[in-house]
Amino acid sequence: MSERKTLETGAPIDTIIFLGTAGARFMVSKQLAASGGMWLNLSGTQLLIDPGPGCIVQATKRKLNAEKLSAIIISHRHLDHSADANVMVEAMTGGGFRRRGQLFLPADALAPEPVVFSYLKNFVEGITVLEAEKTYRTGNISFKTSVRHVHPVETYGMVFTAADYTAGYITDTRYFEELAASYAGSDLIIVNMVLTEPRPPVDHLSKQDVERLIKEIKPKIAILNHFGMHVWQARPWLVAEEIAQKTGVRVIAARDGMKFDLSQLKELPELK
Ligand SMILES: [Zn+2]
Repeated sequence: MSERKTLETGAPIDTIIFLGTAGARFMVSKQLAASGGMWLNLSGTQLLIDPGPGCIVQATKRKLNAEKLSAIIISHRHLDHSADANVMVEAMTGGGFRRRGQLFLPADALAPEPVVFSYLKNFVEGITVLEAEKTYRTGNISFKTSVRHVHPVETYGMVFTAADYTAGYITDTRYFEELAASYAGSDLIIVNMVLTEPRPPVDHLSKQDVERLIKEIKPKIAILNHFGMHVWQARPWLVAEEIAQKTGVRVIAARDGMKFDLSQLKELPELK
């Protein structure tokens, strides 16, 4: 697949493609929305984040070529973030015949029960165990992991730094005081909002939590993603509108297959 370039500068267009917007068990097992994760193209580097169930179907349907990926990044081992890791590793490495690409994931996604089969581990160029608040490089970009999220398994969000933008991915977590600081300075945040109302034993973000995070981080744009059943029933775009009104920040609800062009961030003023 050839890179799309801007006419003026010849620079690659920075995009995020949403290969699914379903979050948590019911949405995923019923496939009310797809659950394939996100495909990023930043400064010419292609990354696959959280390849959930159906990632291979969603990616190939959109003619995304896994052999162009620099890396597959898994925020945590839950099924809706890692189920297609094996098939995507195989796709990234040309069926295992071309040793290439990197795999990033937390330690507990590798042992004692790895989300990637042992025989596939040799197909990739390198496996890197993610730790809290560390910076990693792949292709032309770097990303920094967040503090460890409060979630039943080891979980990290990340902030990607490309030539012109920073984009934070706030993956599954409960809200906690130190969360926003990890994403400070992000031009864009993508936030997994599973719940409408807080449900205390459930370690996921609710609408109120997301409002609070947006007020704290002050991104130029926030994209809501990873919807649970209640958010889905409340219509994600209406929830986005409500949060936008309360925060004064542009808030978008992701849709399956949505391609977000990061260059629009340039035109928006800083809110800080
Ligand atoms: Zn999870």
